[in-house]
Amino acid sequence: MFGLIKSTINYTCPRCRKSSLFIKPFDIKNPLAMNGSCKRCNLNFEPEPGFYFGAMFISYIITGFAFLGAALLLVFYFKWSVNTAMAFVIILGALSYFWVMRFSRSMYIHMMIRYDKDLVIL
Ligand SMILES: [Zn+2]
Repeated sequence: MFGLIKSTINYTCPRCRKSSLFIKPFDIKNPLAMNGSCKRCNLNFEPEPGFYFGAMFISYIITGFAFLGAALLLVFYFKWSVNTAMAFVIILGALSYFWVMRFSRSMYIHMMIRYDKDLVIL
């Protein structure tokens, strides 16, 4: 379980957990640029067109609950005005945008493809 979480956060291949999902270094012009396949186990990172459509729902759930929780906390616990809390949430959303998009893609492919601990690389 810890290996799965670590692999999801580090954006590594879900099958071998060694190779990177995304092209490094990070390019702001193309933040979701992924490697076509795993360099180690040759797993195709985009098995079909539109594969990462489901990742959009994951990012929606993550941002929806996190930002709603943050806004409610700021308004009802810290007594911020609603406008100030909304401005904070918008800034938080802008700052975390690329991270959420990449994390949701990583989470989606880790949900679809199992780790193979007995994988033999020739
Ligand atoms: Zn791999």
